[in-house]
Amino acid sequence: MKLFLTLKGQSQAKEILSSTVSSNRLAHAYILAGPDGSGRLTAALDMAKARICPEEEKGFCGRCRQCRLVNNLIHPDVRITIPRMKTTKDEDTIGLFKARAEDGITPLRIPGNTYISIDQMREMGHRLSRKSFEGYGYVEIIYDAHRLRREAANAILKILEEPPDGALLVLITSRVSGMLPTVRSRAHTVRFGRLTNPMVEELLMERTGVSAETASRLALQSDGCPGQALVLGREKLEDRSQAEDILSLIFNSFSGDMELAAEVEVLSRKLGREGILPLCSEVIALTHDLRRALTGSKPLTRESIPVVSGADDETYQRMEMLFQQCENRLRANASPSMAFSAAVVGSRNRRGH
Ligand SMILES: [Zn+2]
Repeated sequence: MKLFLTLKGQSQAKEILSSTVSSNRLAHAYILAGPDGSGRLTAALDMAKARICPEEEKGFCGRCRQCRLVNNLIHPDVRITIPRMKTTKDEDTIGLFKARAEDGITPLRIPGNTYISIDQMREMGHRLSRKSFEGYGYVEIIYDAHRLRREAANAILKILEEPPDGALLVLITSRVSGMLPTVRSRAHTVRFGRLTNPMVEELLMERTGVSAETASRLALQSDGCPGQALVLGREKLEDRSQAEDILSLIFNSFSGDMELAAEVEVLSRKLGREGILPLCSEVIALTHDLRRALTGSKPLTRESIPVVSGADDETYQRMEMLFQQCENRLRANASPSMAFSAAVVGSRNRRGH
């Protein structure tokens, strides 16, 4: 039985859920309560698979059509409702679900003051009242269930009072106190806690490939929530590969200084101050690794370093200084594109272009 294998930590939640699933005593409604990124959605999807997979009596196979549809977040009978705004378009939510299904990391959250509307709950009631498409029952997952508008919460209450046969409702929340007591009393609450830092570090290294040093820093930042740590880890890797692109712009491109400045200008506009600052620290970390490589030492922040020909220690030191300057100027509110191009073009000019 492959139940809750991908869920890290949470031994208490796993124990409760596994025993109900394996004894086929899955109730019709659960509240999975815990901090963001603690694995609640992962658990909810496993519960959904356990409910509808026809291959395994007490669990799920993970390979059949039903399981695959759930994993891809496109099962017609396993639906996830997320808070949205009036202006949110269907394609926005579809894009979000697709990203989540592909990477298992992207949070199912639309920015802004979102909530779950009565209309969304009516649609859910409608889905539960018809025949299931695939014929193995229905699962409705409600994400951020504390964001139910009162009328929407009342609509859910009606469903909880008379649950349709074969239906499983899973409400996910980080604020169980923000939910109606009447809703809470009709569902089993299962608590998710924070993980220890070593557990988060291990997961980060396994899933994103960041170094032990980075993993330990991100684990601290994410406060025991693996989902948040993975989002941070991915951002880190994006900054890292962008730093390598900058390096390649400086040393490997044949464009003239004017063209280079124009390229940097476009990039600066895209990234903005908030994007350039972490990028500068990644470039600085990269110069440290490049300098280590010159003396035959192993890099600290990555597995391998990009190949640069003809640059010496002095070049890298100067580059580091220029990007440090850029950071300082950005903090002093200088124009992002001016500060950034000064660093990029300046690093290159040292090489006598
Ligand atoms: Zn299956």
